[in-house]
Amino acid sequence: MNQGPSPFSEIKKRGPFVLEIPLDKIRRPLTRTRANDPVKVKELMESIREIGLQEPIDVLEVDGIYYGFSGCHRFEAHQRLGLPTIRCKVRRGTKETLRHHLR
Ligand code: ADP
Repeated sequence: MNQGPSPFSEIKKRGPFVLEIPLDKIRRPLTRTRANDPVKVKELMESIREIGLQEPIDVLEVDGIYYGFSGCHRFEAHQRLGLPTIRCKVRRGTKETLRHHLR
């Protein structure tokens, strides 16, 4: 008898789980309004080049599209280093979650 997904599988579906995602697959709707500290970015670039990313950035997945709202300095450091992907902690959300982030 199928009683539907267990609470545990629901949790697994929503994540969070860690994934390498290409930078160009992550939408960053708020980056134009939030300038990064260039000194922080420089320091992160040196550290990431040396020891790699130690803490994945948080990403929201809604309908198969990835959105990043934080981890801005780590993201820019990856861009400037020319790295193709970034390690992300992915959490699934709904359009409502997304609207909440965009408010
Ligand atoms: P961001 O906008 O990316 O969150 P912050 O300067 O606020 O930038 O925080 C930098 C974060 O990057 C810290 O939480 C730190 O733990 C994390 N981090 C991950 N990898 C590294 C690394 N290789 N060197 C330094 N910090 C790192």
